[in-house]
Amino acid sequence: MSSEANVITRTGDKLTCTDVTCPVCGIACDDIEVDLDDVSVVTRNACIMGDAKFKELRSSHRITKPLISGKDAPWSEAIDKAAEILVNAKRPFFFVGSETSSEAMAVAIEIAEMVGGLVDGNATICHGPTVMACQDVGMASCTLGETRNRADLDIYWGANPEDAHPRHLSRHSIFQRGFFTERGKSDRQIIVVDPRRSTTAEHADLHLQLKPGTDFEVLNALMTILNGFEPHESFTEVTGISREDLHKAAKMVMEARFGVIWVGLGIASTRGKHYNASMAMRLTQLGNNYGKFVILANRGHCNVAGFNEVLDWTCGFPFAVDFSTQEPRYQPGEYSCVDALRRAEVDAVFVMCADLGAHLPKKAVERLCEVPVVSIETAEGPQAFISDVVLPGVLDAMECTGTFYRMDNVPIHARSFCDPPFDFTKSNEDTCIQLRNAVEQKLAEREKEEAEKTGMKPETASLTKEEFGERLDKLVSRNV
Ligand code: SF4
Repeated sequence: MSSEANVITRTGDKLTCTDVTCPVCGIACDDIEVDLDDVSVVTRNACIMGDAKFKELRSSHRITKPLISGKDAPWSEAIDKAAEILVNAKRPFFFVGSETSSEAMAVAIEIAEMVGGLVDGNATICHGPTVMACQDVGMASCTLGETRNRADLDIYWGANPEDAHPRHLSRHSIFQRGFFTERGKSDRQIIVVDPRRSTTAEHADLHLQLKPGTDFEVLNALMTILNGFEPHESFTEVTGISREDLHKAAKMVMEARFGVIWVGLGIASTRGKHYNASMAMRLTQLGNNYGKFVILANRGHCNVAGFNEVLDWTCGFPFAVDFSTQEPRYQPGEYSCVDALRRAEVDAVFVMCADLGAHLPKKAVERLCEVPVVSIETAEGPQAFISDVVLPGVLDAMECTGTFYRMDNVPIHARSFCDPPFDFTKSNEDTCIQLRNAVEQKLAEREKEEAEKTGMKPETASLTKEEFGERLDKLVSRNV
């Protein structure tokens, strides 16, 4: 049993764990209760998505043995083979998935840097444009606790949390009773901006049912009114929204004490992309002329925000990074996952805790099938099927501890309550560390071989004090 655990009680064969963090969506609910025995898992407080994830603990699809070319293999052999693939590649690509800890991500990124690879994560196909807008404009934000206790206006723009983050409305927004919103829904106004009559829109005081792809125009028109002007006469024809509804929305913004704009992929992934998100952030700035206004991205996975944080603190860029020139270069659209694969530019792929085989466009998956693929994967599926080496994944927040960055960018320490069903690794971080050590060793061996061939000293060999002084003197005299 892991030494760092949640509140656990044991009754016969059954383990009951409380205050467990859910490792699925960006809310990272931390009030889950789990009953676990040898055959079953029962959860309380988890939504249907969270419950399904906890049930993976006893799933018959769980991968418990390392695989090389689809066949069981010893762990040491699998690690060695994985390292060999990454070291031999000229343009390796690393996809760092979001359902694992920031600690594991940090080591995976370190390996990518060692072998000069490209690095990307789930943000590239979800809120990447929102992150780019944040860099452009800046983001007035707050914690989920503040939205729960203070927000009297919730604007869901291109987001349908009732389906995508099932406990969002009950824990952090519409229905939750907070310190300044003690009557729950009765103390809040709701605006939903969505071309569809979504389930979240059913709760709205105002549903702006815009034409698809006109977010930029609606945001612009709303800002025009807040600045004291009237939008262009073509507004309704272009966006499908009546002038009366637009003025109603502007009035709600001006009268709010504390407004939150929750942006979803309806903004980030439609025409305009990061320009839409930039406009939403500018609208937030304008809202602060009247009351307090903040903006939050409804991040999909439990630690997709963590990937951006870790890559940011490693090299200063949030996604789509290339380490091939020894220094990080950032270029979404070029170094991002789908683009690099579609151009058939990469010659080996490392995937941690993500099923690219099931989610990428056909051309990108075709490239995945052509090159050697190393995966850290918990369950059988398309990703494991197309992988040359599969290293069994550990379930974060259940079998190992780690840090998730919630959708409000608050780090949550997720604790474990049971052990992995194997003993060759303790966590995905541990797997990455073992892989990093193997890669390091292979790089050193290769360097040594090359040095022997050319008769030159390996670059990484440490110099004696005298050699260092000699080399320094030469360099100084050359400059003079
Ligand atoms: S809302 Fe998200 S974090 Fe909460 S239980 Fe459901 S999937 Fe898990």
